[in-house]
Amino acid sequence: MSFDQLGLRVELLKAIKNKGYEAPTAIQAQAIPVILAGRDILARAQTGTGKTDAFGLPIVQILGLTRGNGHHPRALILTPTRELALQVGESIKAYARKVSLRCTVAFGGVRIEPQIARLERGIDILVATPGRLLDLASQEHLSLASIEFLVFDEADRMLDLGFSGEINAILDLLPTVRRTMLFSATYTPQIKALAAKMLDKPEYIEI
Ligand code: AMP
Repeated sequence: MSFDQLGLRVELLKAIKNKGYEAPTAIQAQAIPVILAGRDILARAQTGTGKTDAFGLPIVQILGLTRGNGHHPRALILTPTRELALQVGESIKAYARKVSLRCTVAFGGVRIEPQIARLERGIDILVATPGRLLDLASQEHLSLASIEFLVFDEADRMLDLGFSGEINAILDLLPTVRRTMLFSATYTPQIKALAAKMLDKPEYIEI
């Protein structure tokens, strides 16, 4: 399998080449075509498998082909920790800038004002931790009404850290018509319940 076979546009293939990747990982080979085809995904994958690019590349590709209202985010990636948010944000920014999309990261434990200022300049892709996301949304600095893609990254860790209340509150703010992807290292009854609640006929991928 090569990246050329996955249906990705040439700007993204160049960015992948610049990163030095030679071939897609298993999760990338399986998930990218499914996400490009517009399906929801439930993926069981550990960190280190290349899962970030598995959702980041197809989301950037699809959003880059159409323009939104230019202000509110169209993709929301939720992560359990600030470290993961930063790491995912860096990966996605490298692709987003190739197709003129703006990506930013928001997490707690730091001043909220610079994050508000960034959101007010307009954003396409937001990577965030659940608590800070809700703070931004409840203070009306952020509208989630234009979200087309929702990703739960390391969903099992998010539940372990006690974020289920925040997750439910966030789901209430999102459009019901959207594509959703849930990535988790484990497949517990809690993850199964979350998946049943928020995914629409997902493709199940296990690597
Ligand atoms: P992740 O599982 O998304 O945290 O990715 C783990 C690491 O693998 C990151 O450092 C990525 O840059 C790297 N990586 C992702 N996809 C590939 C690939 N196709 N080939 C080589 N390295 C990759």
